[in-house]
Amino acid sequence: MVAQRQGNNSSPIGNDHHLSYGFKSSPPAQPSTPQVNLQPQDDALSFSLDTITQIDICNVELSVFNLYLLKQLRRSTRLLNRLEMKQKFEKKLRKFGFIEEADRLKRCRAEVVSLVCENGHSFRPIPDFQCYLPFCPDCCERKSIIELRKKLPKVFQALKNDPSLILALNTLTIKSDNDRKLVAGNNKLKEGFKTLRRQKVWKNCVGGFGRIENTYKKSVGWHPHLHSILLLKGYIPQKALSDAWNGVTKCSKVVDIRTVHDVATGLIECIKYPFKPSDLKKLGKPQIAEMLDAKGERLGVSFGVLFGIEVDDDLDTGIDVEYAEFVDETRKLEVGDPCPICQTKLDLINFTARGYAEFLGSIRVAARGSP
Ligand SMILES: [Zn+2]
Ligand SMILES: [Zn+2]
Repeated sequence: MVAQRQGNNSSPIGNDHHLSYGFKSSPPAQPSTPQVNLQPQDDALSFSLDTITQIDICNVELSVFNLYLLKQLRRSTRLLNRLEMKQKFEKKLRKFGFIEEADRLKRCRAEVVSLVCENGHSFRPIPDFQCYLPFCPDCCERKSIIELRKKLPKVFQALKNDPSLILALNTLTIKSDNDRKLVAGNNKLKEGFKTLRRQKVWKNCVGGFGRIENTYKKSVGWHPHLHSILLLKGYIPQKALSDAWNGVTKCSKVVDIRTVHDVATGLIECIKYPFKPSDLKKLGKPQIAEMLDAKGERLGVSFGVLFGIEVDDDLDTGIDVEYAEFVDETRKLEVGDPCPICQTKLDLINFTARGYAEFLGSIRVAARGSP
């Protein structure tokens, strides 16, 4: 089976991409169409996208390579789902007359260039354009990944400096009010949080960071809440926190605080929710306009020891260091380099969004033996 080169070769790919692949002035030579070997290897169990969901990957000893490929298979499904979501969003924006935003969403990641080897292993995909709209599922995911990469080492460093610290997830909410604008609700939450941090109940918290998220329901209006991750030198009782928060906001006792034992999972929980794209289905034209107006607003907060902490180089992150190193290495790959998985030469290939998602989904992953 041969993978067709996806997308239109004459379509403009900004020079940025070439620069980021190490090209200075001249664009790369047109890559040849890669021959993709999709035949399962004789001595290895192989899985397609259909069977991948049936595998409990925790029970399978996976090499770093296979883990990478498995993640790409999963990514394929996510990309396809998001593509569908984006098309629906685009239609809605157009219907409401947000033409410029609809056009941006349509262009967002419509084309991707990636380094691809003969065996269909793909590295360093770079989109042609990103829209950064608050309801773009691709851009929201990207933001959350960037945020994680920035924050994770800081939290590890703080825990390394003081291993007795407790990690907790905290959610604070304020009551919905149909007459209150989106920005006003966010400001009320931010002000309330500032006041809360000066209260006695907060004395055990040495630092943290978080982000405001808003949901919307026609019957109640915007519902702002702040998810944050906290470093504590002692537990904060839920009841005491609830009373203090009610004292500050005069409207809401609704808080949640829970300890997390796995740092990476905790951080992902904390960051995933605030960055999930707004559900455009529930929003009317005025709410979309409000969101677009509030686009530049700072929704992130960071405080205490996590504010401006220095990060040193030899972090013991506790997550899969070997895997993290592998992914890090792939970011340095350039055209002509050998594929780190199968050693065949890497070429630069243009894809459409759908073409790239389907390409990732067509890769075979061997569960044992080398790929
Ligand atoms: Zn986007
Ligand atoms: Zn390869």
